[in-house]
Amino acid sequence: MPVRERKRSTHCDSQISLEERLNIQNEFWNKVRQSPVSTLLLDYDGTLAPFTADRDAAFPYKGVVEALNAILESCRTRVVVVTGRRAHDIPRLLRLRTAPEVWGCHGYEYLTSGKYELKKPDEDLLRALSIVDEELEKEGLADRIEYKPGAVAVHFRGIDPEVAGEAMAAVVRVYKEYGSHCGLQLRRFDQGLEFRLPNVDKGGVVHAVVAEVPPHSPIAYLGDDETDEDAFRALPCNGLSVLVRADPRPTSASQWLRPPDELLAFLCCWAECVRGGVQCKSASRA
Ligand SMILES: [Mg+2]
Repeated sequence: MPVRERKRSTHCDSQISLEERLNIQNEFWNKVRQSPVSTLLLDYDGTLAPFTADRDAAFPYKGVVEALNAILESCRTRVVVVTGRRAHDIPRLLRLRTAPEVWGCHGYEYLTSGKYELKKPDEDLLRALSIVDEELEKEGLADRIEYKPGAVAVHFRGIDPEVAGEAMAAVVRVYKEYGSHCGLQLRRFDQGLEFRLPNVDKGGVVHAVVAEVPPHSPIAYLGDDETDEDAFRALPCNGLSVLVRADPRPTSASQWLRPPDELLAFLCCWAECVRGGVQCKSASRA
């Protein structure tokens, strides 16, 4: 689907209609207003929070927490964070009053208040991941590796492009020698490459969530990265897929929002639809 060019918005101005502000079909917002249940799936890094060299300090854009609190407290929207991070990172970074549902490591982990689950591991594949991890360390990438359940990510953010190029070549070498033959996948993400177990991706999370929500109820997925494309494609035909990114790129998403202003306007509109209004501050980094 083509990316739609949109005008920018700065805040939740009640003088401007939701449709003018977000250029999203009346029909979708009406469904959110009228439906007793709706579902909002959100990627974290690059979508709700700006990228930072220090991943432990990637806090959400200003205003996002307030808008999500309002949405959650309406008790009419299931809010689901779908991330490549460890699931436990999200409550610490988002600091919402109500614990959100989180699918971490692209769906390998599931976390909600009082409950944590891990997919049943395939021992052979986990052993292969462990070998990959050791080989990446031998390539001198120890400082760049993030070992997590069901995945090994190698981050290139903040390093010299030439060094990053050499590191990528080393990762591909390790993949060809130790990863590809045993079924591991090598997937690109923003500023990195990741070894992943097969059949674990954000599209699988969308399928799992969709199976649990009422048919035809409003559902949207917001994400920025190539890993979010699996989720965009997995949405049902009544779903709203939204690319959140400063610049457009080829995507399966039907909508495009520039963060943080348009993202915040979108979340505020959702809150208005389910709760009847929320005060939104102008968006910038928290
Ligand atoms: Mg992202």
